[in-house]
Amino acid sequence: MTRTGTAIAIGERTSPRILGTVDSGRPGPTFLAQGGIHGNEPAGVAALERVLATISERKLTIAGRIVACRGNLLALHGARRYVERDLNRQWLPESIARLRAKEPRDDRAEDKEQRELLALYEQCWDARRGPLVFLDLHTSSAPGSPFSCMADTLPNRRITDALPIPMILGLEECIDGAVMEWFNQRGQIAIAVEGGQHDAPATIDNLESAVWLTLAASGVVARQDVDIAFHEARLREATNGTPHVVEVTWRHAITPLDRFAMVPGYVSFQPVEKGDLLGHDRNGPVRARARGMVLLPLYQGLGEDGYFFARVVPRFWFRLSGLLRRFRLSRFVGILPGVRRDPADRRTLLVNPTVARWLTVPLFHLFGYRRERPRGDRLAFSRRWAAPDARTVRPR
Ligand SMILES: [Zn+2]
Repeated sequence: MTRTGTAIAIGERTSPRILGTVDSGRPGPTFLAQGGIHGNEPAGVAALERVLATISERKLTIAGRIVACRGNLLALHGARRYVERDLNRQWLPESIARLRAKEPRDDRAEDKEQRELLALYEQCWDARRGPLVFLDLHTSSAPGSPFSCMADTLPNRRITDALPIPMILGLEECIDGAVMEWFNQRGQIAIAVEGGQHDAPATIDNLESAVWLTLAASGVVARQDVDIAFHEARLREATNGTPHVVEVTWRHAITPLDRFAMVPGYVSFQPVEKGDLLGHDRNGPVRARARGMVLLPLYQGLGEDGYFFARVVPRFWFRLSGLLRRFRLSRFVGILPGVRRDPADRRTLLVNPTVARWLTVPLFHLFGYRRERPRGDRLAFSRRWAAPDARTVRPR
């Protein structure tokens, strides 16, 4: 059962999904952390168990509430990414509406998992006494630096800025329906952290440090109760000089029919030149289309992303975009030639691709818009928004 104060309810076994909850009984953010939405990524679960144990041992006083959970129980049990479908892909409102319309008795493996997770998220949402901070923990098949990714809102940036690991912008734009989307739709903070290679012991350390720094950055745990310098140093060492901000420009989508195989030896953030050989598929060699860097090369059987391609975002550009948004200059992008607001949805801009050829995707990213599916002959960009309470999340 869940108790108030600093009590920790790791024994709450009404659901094996719950790793533990800590409730201060006081106002503050709800910190919801999840490991193993991909079943071959148990390091996130191990990291959360460590943090919960430390909070319990040291009887730390928290503000708000902590809930830590497992993602895909069935897949974790079988140590595979998923059983029938990727549980980190079906979280857009239309997919959730489809799930709700189905009879639970007809549920396939991941339908049942998603239904239970959805109930947990909704329970956290309904019981919140402040903003919600969601942290999704992942690992990857190839070695490489840890990193964070998120929708590019200012409250999300405030959290990822506290993590001395690269942040990847635009990854969520390439992946339809990641679980973070459920929280984005509510304007809440949602961050995913990749800790490193699935089985490397340092991966659990990296994820543990990311959890502590996120708890401190969101004010759930007081800064003086977290060894900030230690966790920062541990993460900094793991990143090995990778750039602070990168932006995804391309996702190499694959199906089993493509028979795509990545050339061995690539790691995330590895620089490549235009024309470099990246892999092979049924049509022959797959080469880099431009100069940039490879992210998340696929070296496991299951997956729909062969690799991602990214480029470095200069630090000044990143800071400038934060300033432009803070002073709400981003409003003016709607009056540029070839751009008009969608009358049905004020947060969406419809862009004439011929008139606005010079308005490149990075410009819209700069102003905090994400690319959506085109509407007829118009490009569509919608504003990533932050609820007013998400803007109040800060360290204490
Ligand atoms: Zn994952």
